Amino acid sequence: MIKSKENGLLIVVSGPSGSGKSTLDNMLIKKRKNMVMSVSDTTRKIRPGEKEGIDYNYITTEEFEKNIKNDKYLEYASVYTGTYYGTPENFVNKMLEKGKDVILEIDIEGARKVKEKRKDAIFIFIMPPSMKILKERLVSRKTETKDQVIERFKTAYKEINEFNKYNYVIVNDNLDEALLKMDAIITSEKCRVDRIEELDVGNAEEIIHEILVDFNEK
Ligand code: ADP
Ligand code: 5GP
Repeated sequence: MIKSKENGLLIVVSGPSGSGKSTLDNMLIKKRKNMVMSVSDTTRKIRPGEKEGIDYNYITTEEFEKNIKNDKYLEYASVYTGTYYGTPENFVNKMLEKGKDVILEIDIEGARKVKEKRKDAIFIFIMPPSMKILKERLVSRKTETKDQVIERFKTAYKEINEFNKYNYVIVNDNLDEALLKMDAIITSEKCRVDRIEELDVGNAEEIIHEILVDFNEK
């Protein structure tokens, strides 16, 4: 009776480094069918445990700047000193057209650019329960050097002040509860009235005729 739009949802997830974005996004993708992560290009070095083409496409600064010129990115930003991160637009468009929901795990500057270009995107901010817990998670992840942790922690203060530019905020205290909230947001977004393309109630006279026939037969 109701026909919803067939294209997928574009979901932007931001939050300070260590707030739990990757953890939550990966859990959500396992839980929901039809959802994919966009794989960004980056000029930062690959970390132990990361995989080329899965966590990021690791490219040189020269390659990245060439891609900027060729208009490859939906958005890009220099998130930490001298390090580019960008979302290849082609992949995102292809997946959305196929009806897949696409998650972009990007910083606040990138999110701002997506907001200008894609009015129908959904913006979710992942908030740590406290700055003390954020520090503990960031340090215990052991993926950054001391200087990198300090830079990320300083950036976190700027990022947190931007939370009110997003549609939703999730405090990532208990992981399972945070995941439930994220899942519920996506489910609700799929029920939005503006995602309905067509309402077909059929022919009332035909149905009334069928009712009359049903009654006469009894
Ligand atoms: P981000 O992607 O935002 O940088 P991560 O997903 O890498 O953050 O999470 C940072 C660290 O905190 C990881 O070691 C992760 O296992 C841990 N973590 C994430 N969410 C929680 C949570 N709710 N409770 C405890 N630890 C968490
Ligand atoms: P990390 O180096 O920890 O993987 O990511 C650092 C930051 O870069 C995170 O805030 C992450 O969300 C952001 N980031 C990752 N990919 C992109 C991207 O394609 N565009 C933008 N603007 N930010 C990104």
